[in-house]
Amino acid sequence: MTIPFSFEVYPPRKPEHQAALHETIQKLATAGPDFITVTYGANGSSRDASLDCLRFIREHTDVAPLAHVTCVGSTRDEMNALIDEFLAADIRMFLALRGDPPEGADPQSDYLGDVKTAAELVHLIRERGDNDLSIAVAAFPNGHPMSTSPSSDIDILLAKQAAGAEFAITQLFFNATDYLSFLSSARAAGVTIPILPGIMPVTSLSRLRHIVEITGERMPRDLEAALEAAPSPAHARTVGVAQAVELCRQLVAGGAPGLHLYAFNEHETVLEVLAQLNEPA
Ligand code: FAD
Repeated sequence: MTIPFSFEVYPPRKPEHQAALHETIQKLATAGPDFITVTYGANGSSRDASLDCLRFIREHTDVAPLAHVTCVGSTRDEMNALIDEFLAADIRMFLALRGDPPEGADPQSDYLGDVKTAAELVHLIRERGDNDLSIAVAAFPNGHPMSTSPSSDIDILLAKQAAGAEFAITQLFFNATDYLSFLSSARAAGVTIPILPGIMPVTSLSRLRHIVEITGERMPRDLEAALEAAPSPAHARTVGVAQAVELCRQLVAGGAPGLHLYAFNEHETVLEVLAQLNEPA
């Protein structure tokens, strides 16, 4: 299968995890992704660790590093300084995000900072006039937890496109129709940028429950039951990989322009998904 693909990793939570992550990145890189993205803790909590990880990708692989950046709680000057720092490390691709406000923050207060939405952040980066920068944004096939209606999610994606986003990466989801119907509504509303589906192979019940909790996605009951019934961790992994492979096949058949795989800082599972996708169905 020749569809483009990419991976997401997160910066190591402890310094002692760094060596293992570097090995994972090198293994992911050998598969030939278009880019590897590195998440960023809202409010700058992972700033140095994210930058170190992006530098590692730039200096030790042939793959383009893509930096997630969040603007929540930041001033324009702080955002510009952050972008300068990433550009100085030769990072040319960004995923412009608002980020989640701190837990318990009053939505009416000024916690959002000067740059209040992802669309404003795209605009701030584009104001530099550097046409070589590639800017991606997030999209939510099943709606952002704060959205008021499905059409508002598409309106917000249109605003990101108008601000200069080149492509979108979606929140994870578990049914191909979630993505495909969002794609067709987005196209009908005038979204022309590529929308890459974000796919997370979920290989344990505890991880599935955690993911559903933090993203607000609906629990996929079939996957939950299959993981619950798996007699061992190895069986659960087989279940998760098979579900992701089937999802990817349906997405590609439905016209997805590529696949963005959430690697969870492990190379084996996402590489297994790609290997199975390359086998005849
Ligand atoms: P926005 O596009 O600004 O919008 C978020 C929501 O706010 C909208 O859906 C809407 O409900 C509301 N909203 C925005 N603008 C308006 C407006 N003008 N009027 C009314 N309502 C509005 N978070 C991190 O902290 N670090 C990461 O690395 C990270 N990576 C992510 C990667 C992907 C692919 C995805 C899908 C999400 C990621 N997130 C990350 C989570 C993301 O930061 C949160 O979901 C955040 O709440 C929204 O970010 P956004 O960029 O979509 O924001």
